Amino acid sequence: MDVATKELCATCGQSAEYFGCSGCNQSFCNNHIGSHRQELAKELNHVECKYDMLLQEIREPYVEQHSLISKINNWEQHSICFIQQAAETARRELQDLLQKNKDEVITEVHKLTQKLRLAREIDDYSEIDLQKWTDQLNQLKHQLTSPLHIIIATPSINEISVTSLQKGTLVVFILTKDEITC
Ligand SMILES: [Zn+2]
Ligand SMILES: [Zn+2]
Repeated sequence: MDVATKELCATCGQSAEYFGCSGCNQSFCNNHIGSHRQELAKELNHVECKYDMLLQEIREPYVEQHSLISKINNWEQHSICFIQQAAETARRELQDLLQKNKDEVITEVHKLTQKLRLAREIDDYSEIDLQKWTDQLNQLKHQLTSPLHIIIATPSINEISVTSLQKGTLVVFILTKDEITC
């Protein structure tokens, strides 16, 4: 507090001995400078209280529940959802292709069985025919377990394509961002 020379007391408006407050730039008389200091002391307690409250908050589960952590958690959930949807779409496309493949093999097996029956009926077959039918059987088994015309490609983390090369046609299914609903 500095002794001022010509100000009036900010509390009572009287002029006597003056004390200037360098914080609020007001002057106070001898009677009121004390109460002004008391107000400041009250304010100091307030600020101290807020510091205590902040410490209290920091003692709560700060790290686990921080909003920056939840940003990472959200990204993780979104990425998992994104990949699950891509996998689901690719699975459905592949299931369709495998079903078609299975139907083709079944049709071919029926056709060849008819041939075998006819050959037995008319008793017209040789070792060459038996070898040919055995080869065809193995080919059908192979088509069932590892169909060469179906290609799965995973060019990136959020992209998978299921391709059918059957009968010279190329069918590509690529999951685009528009198809993602999560
Ligand atoms: Zn003051
Ligand atoms: Zn005063």
